[in-house]
Amino acid sequence: ELQAQPGNVSFKDVSFSYDKRREVLNGITFEAQQGQTVALVGETGSGKSTTLKLLLRLYDPDRGTIEIGGQKISDVSLESLRNAIGVVPQDPVLFNDTLLSNLKYANQTATIEDVHNACAAVKLHDRFLSFPDGYETIVGERGIKLSGGELQRVAIARVLLKNPKFVLLDEATSAVDSETEAHIQHSLAQLTAGRTTLVIAHRLSTVIKADHILVLKDGSITERGTHESL
Ligand code: ATP
Ligand code: MG
Repeated sequence: ELQAQPGNVSFKDVSFSYDKRREVLNGITFEAQQGQTVALVGETGSGKSTTLKLLLRLYDPDRGTIEIGGQKISDVSLESLRNAIGVVPQDPVLFNDTLLSNLKYANQTATIEDVHNACAAVKLHDRFLSFPDGYETIVGERGIKLSGGELQRVAIARVLLKNPKFVLLDEATSAVDSETEAHIQHSLAQLTAGRTTLVIAHRLSTVIKADHILVLKDGSITERGTHESL
């Protein structure tokens, strides 16, 4: 079981190769303290997504240790590890089902009030109420289409309803207008408040707000610091 401990995440000298030939991560070391946001930046193929995948134990590192809440992730059951982590993917997928079931996906015990509050926090509640069928509207491929920015905010609302201690966020790259940008920034502030967060950052505003920035290049951290220091 994952203990109720401080919400630190640490990588110590972590190396990893998908094919056991070419190293994709090479000696990655960093720590995120309880409540902090660490931003991963770097060019395509530098190892950002792989770093998040290792924390979820989709793969095991070849060398080094990864700890969450002071425990090695290899000593924790997969179920309790993944219950403790909320993931906001770059391109969230909705099922062909109602908005309500899509939102409650990670927490079936959420009340309708919880769902409304989560959607208000990501500035989507009024929009959803404006649909003729409200939260019963069918979404997904066969339903109403949401924009990329709205989809990512639905994914954030899902994580708010799950209420995990840790958050992994792969920011969408799509360009957005300034109103959407403001909604996204507001949503991210709700998401990261009090939670230890690793974010693959594409927006400058996210990088500026991060407590630490790690610059990855070819699987190594080449620079680290804050927005002011880099
Ligand atoms: P991007 O900005 O394009 O998302 P990234 O920094 O997230 O890039 P990763 O997805 O971590 O990069 O990939 C790092 C390296 O590992 C790349 O060379 C990629 O081709 C390789 N890679 C990623 N996933 C796999 C996989 N499942 N099998 C084999 N190689 C992979
Ligand atoms: Mg990636």
